[in-house]
Amino acid sequence: MERLLGAYISVPFCRAKCSYCNFASGVLGMGASGDGASGAGASEPGRMERYVERVCAEIGSARERAAELRAELPGRVDTVYFGGGTPSLLGAEQMRRLFAALRGEFEVSADAEITIECAPGQMGDETFEELLRLGMNRVSFGVQSFVDAEARAVGRMHTRAMCLAEIARMRAAGVEEINVDLIVGLPRQTAASWRESVDVGIECGVPHVSVYMLEVDEDSRLGREMLAHGTRYGAESVASEDETAERYAAACEWLEASGVMQYEISNFARKGHESRHNVKYWRREPYVGFGLDAHSMLRCGEGAVRWGNTSDLEKYLAGREQGTVTPASQDRSPGTPTGNREQDELRLFAVDPEVERIGLERGFEEAMFLGLRMNEGIDLEALRAEFGAELMGGAVAALSDVEEAGLVEREGSWLRLTARGRMVSNEVFSRLLVEATV
Ligand code: SF4
Repeated sequence: MERLLGAYISVPFCRAKCSYCNFASGVLGMGASGDGASGAGASEPGRMERYVERVCAEIGSARERAAELRAELPGRVDTVYFGGGTPSLLGAEQMRRLFAALRGEFEVSADAEITIECAPGQMGDETFEELLRLGMNRVSFGVQSFVDAEARAVGRMHTRAMCLAEIARMRAAGVEEINVDLIVGLPRQTAASWRESVDVGIECGVPHVSVYMLEVDEDSRLGREMLAHGTRYGAESVASEDETAERYAAACEWLEASGVMQYEISNFARKGHESRHNVKYWRREPYVGFGLDAHSMLRCGEGAVRWGNTSDLEKYLAGREQGTVTPASQDRSPGTPTGNREQDELRLFAVDPEVERIGLERGFEEAMFLGLRMNEGIDLEALRAEFGAELMGGAVAALSDVEEAGLVEREGSWLRLTARGRMVSNEVFSRLLVEATV
């Protein structure tokens, strides 16, 4: 069966920094027009332009890169995902160039899912119209909270009214596939305000909702404040782990009761509206990421290769997004001295843009853990056929322990996390990993 490729394009620019984030994104001042594209371009034209140029060049060298890694690069793309950062800040012309680069190298299927992440109120009309012409058919809004005081407290620049107006704007233009991201555990969030946010998410009728637990980077403003017990960014009001877990569990129930069904730990959709691009990650289908800190996975024979681009914007702009991997060094684990000085220097550099070969055993672990993130779970028979009875045998013994603890359940040859297992998924995965490899 022909494998189809997912293409991810990272756009690491934001209009303002969220208090919990320390992502290596450039922060762009905006023009008074409120048009994300022109404002951003006016404040930092050089860097954003250079970035688009670099991404186009990286797309143009994808074949060469895959050949260098001896990886299979599918020629046809059926999902495109612009993530960030805030990709909706790019100008119309910049979007045109990125799509031209992509379509110049790959055949993008006529029915491809094309998603743009967007901060509400931060997609200028010109960019929006151009994206519609270019085939955008899905928008993912970084709402985080429909409660204005909460959104403001973490540095989001939108209100509930703006979010709802944006959703209406997309629908009026024919874009029905809309996601809203919500964060559980934000500073100043209460059980009641969380209910309000989830309710608005349900009532606005979008077919897809993502619910993420707050992750605070310790080098972010909020993270530093939490360590110092300060109050400016609301560190004192961040929910405890138990409260966050309770709110997450409640959201799962409310969403499911309204027909927005959980299909992955953080993702919920009405039937047929799941994110085709993100599902590729959990099913280990091939994808290539372009841009800052973008990650890729391609198959090669029975195995696979994963690599990540640098997370240093200046390095990326200088064209040093990836380490050079020569055939002699390809199968070494990162950091292993090669005995060759040039190679060792590249290896040190490659700690950031790391290339990892995935053999049968590692592939099997990934198939289990990524597959178990999805509610449908994993088909043990299919795994046995793909990875062999020996690896499967070790795993089955490890599984019985978590099964007895009520964290996973079986139905025929399918195995899935229970609702309780999803609450502590990391613990389940590490227990499986430790026991399966003992
Ligand atoms: S929009 Fe995303 S990448 Fe940008 S500052 Fe906020 S959390 Fe970070």
